[in-house]
Amino acid sequence: MKFVLASNNAHKLEEFKRILEPMGHSIVPQNEVCPPCEIEEDGETFRENAYKKAYGIYKIVNIPTIADDSGLCVDALNNAPGVYSARYSGMGDAENNAKLLRELKDVPQEKRTARFVCNICVVMGEDNIIETQGECNGYIGFELRGENGFGYDPLFMVGEKSTAEMSPQEKDSISHRGKALERLQEKLLKLG
Ligand code: IMP
Repeated sequence: MKFVLASNNAHKLEEFKRILEPMGHSIVPQNEVCPPCEIEEDGETFRENAYKKAYGIYKIVNIPTIADDSGLCVDALNNAPGVYSARYSGMGDAENNAKLLRELKDVPQEKRTARFVCNICVVMGEDNIIETQGECNGYIGFELRGENGFGYDPLFMVGEKSTAEMSPQEKDSISHRGKALERLQEKLLKLG
């Protein structure tokens, strides 16, 4: 199936393509079909935001649209930054990671547990909507590690490695986005 991705995040686009293309789908970024389109992410949950983005773009372009809303939930911070993950510091990824390290300065290893969450919403018609979710459990490291990935990947540890130290395939096999997209494929296949 051909999907429009309701996002202009180049890293997300890369991950969606990497996972969905081998499943037989094609992904066109939002800015290719509607450069000025922008949907506000003002929901209070990942699910709400994913639906808002997918439905908003679908209504404009009338092509099956997929969106994810994802983020990092840290137990010691009461699940923050959560839906505000992209905007945590008000600046970019480097500042978000620096803020996270500051907030967890006095938190010992065993209390640094966290998870990445990804909610996917696909809108294929007014009454034809699929939603899935994926999570990836880990903990927040004490320093930035690795060059791959994006966002909080250099701080998000699964076992001995950060997700920025993993190969793309390794990350996809355990990631929140990988799991949510696998579940999406199962649901699409059931639809026939
Ligand atoms: P949004 O879904 O576009 O609102 O933004 C998600 C934000 O969560 C990103 O900007 C990152 O800060 C963070 N995030 C989501 N998924 C990942 C991931 O796979 N690795 C690292 N950070 C992520």
